[in-house]
Amino acid sequence: ESQLNPNYSFENFLEGDSNRLARSAGLAVSNKPGGTSFNPLLIFGGVGLGKTHLAHAIGVDIKDKYPEKTVLYISAEKFTQQYIDAVKKNNRNDFIHFYQIIDVLIIDDVQFFSGKTGTQDVFFHIFNHLHQNGKQVILTSDKAPVDMQDIEQRLLSRFKWGLSAELQTPDFETRVSILKNKLYRDGVEMPEDIIEYVAKNIKTNVRELEGAIISLIAQSSFNKKEITIDLARIIVEKFVKNTKREVSIDYIQKVVSDYFQMDIDTLQSKTRKRHIVQARQLAMFFAKKFTKASLASIGSQIGKRDHATVLHACKTVDNLSSTDKQFRKYVEDITKKLSI
Ligand code: ADP
Ligand code: MG
Repeated sequence: ESQLNPNYSFENFLEGDSNRLARSAGLAVSNKPGGTSFNPLLIFGGVGLGKTHLAHAIGVDIKDKYPEKTVLYISAEKFTQQYIDAVKKNNRNDFIHFYQIIDVLIIDDVQFFSGKTGTQDVFFHIFNHLHQNGKQVILTSDKAPVDMQDIEQRLLSRFKWGLSAELQTPDFETRVSILKNKLYRDGVEMPEDIIEYVAKNIKTNVRELEGAIISLIAQSSFNKKEITIDLARIIVEKFVKNTKREVSIDYIQKVVSDYFQMDIDTLQSKTRKRHIVQARQLAMFFAKKFTKASLASIGSQIGKRDHATVLHACKTVDNLSSTDKQFRKYVEDITKKLSI
C-alpha cells in the first residue's frame, strides 16, 4: 500500500509563478527518481499551499512510470507514531528494515520531527541508507531548513543536500485557474465574475479558496438559490473573518517603537543601548509570533540582521518574560496592542 491519493496528480496541480520551480523539480524527480541531484527534494511553504498535493503527485507519477518501484507516502506524525510503537514492541530493527527497502520515500510535514530526538535519529539512519543506495527521498515542511527549530544539525545538513523548493502564495490568475479546474472536474458551472470575486478575496490559502467555492455550491443547492454575487459576498466574508488578519512586520515595528516612545530608525539602529536592544528583540519576537515570515526575512526587515540574531532575540524574550516581571508586562501590553 503506497498510501497515495490518485486525485492529487500533476495534471490537477495547476502551474503558476508561485509553484513553477517546485513543480518542475517534482517532475524532474518523478522522471528519474534517485537519479537527479534533487535528493532529497524538500518542498516547503505555508498552510494550504499545495505541499501534500505536490508530494502525492510526484509519487503517483513515479508509480505510473515505474510500476515496479515501491513508493511510500507517510506523514511525519504517523511515521513518529509507528516508530514509538515499534520501540515499545522491541521491533526497532524491523521498523528500520521496512523503510530501508523502499525505493521512493515521501515524508509529509517533517517539521513534526521538531524536538523528537529518537525519531530524528532513526530517520537519519534510514535517510543515509536510502541516499547511499540511490533511492529517492521527498520531504515537505512548513519552513525552509534554515528556519527549522529543534531539528538536529546533522539532519538539517542532509535536508540541504538536495533541493529546497518553496511553494508561495499563488497570484490572482493562478487562483482563478485553480478554481476553474476544480469546478470543471466537479461538473459545476459558475459565472466568471463570481469565480473572480472569490479569487480576488481569498488570497493566502488554496484550501480556503476551494472551501469557499464548495460552500458556495452547497449553499446554493441547499437553498435552491442561484449562485449570485451577493451569496458569494456573504460566504467570502465568513472565510475572511475566520482567518485572522496577519499583521505586518512594519506594523509590529511601529507598535513596538510607539510603545517605547522611540522612532523606527532608532529601533533598527546598530546601537547596543539596552532598552533599544530590548525593543528590537521584542519586535523580532512578535514578527516571529504573528507573521509567517522566515527568520531571515524578519532579520532583514528589522535593521538588516541575520536569522541567527532573530533566533537569539526570540529565545531572549522567552527567557526574560519568564524571569523578569517588568519585561513580561512589556510582552503582555504589546500583545494586546497587536491583537486588536
Ligand atoms: P498543504 O499540504 O501545503 O497544507 P495541500 O496540498 O493540502 O496544502 O493543498 C490544499 C488544497 O489546495 C488541496 O485540495 C490541493 O489540491 C489544493 N491545491 C493547492 N495548490 C494547488 C494547485 N497549484 N493546483 C490545484 N490545486 C491546488
Ligand atoms: Mg499538507
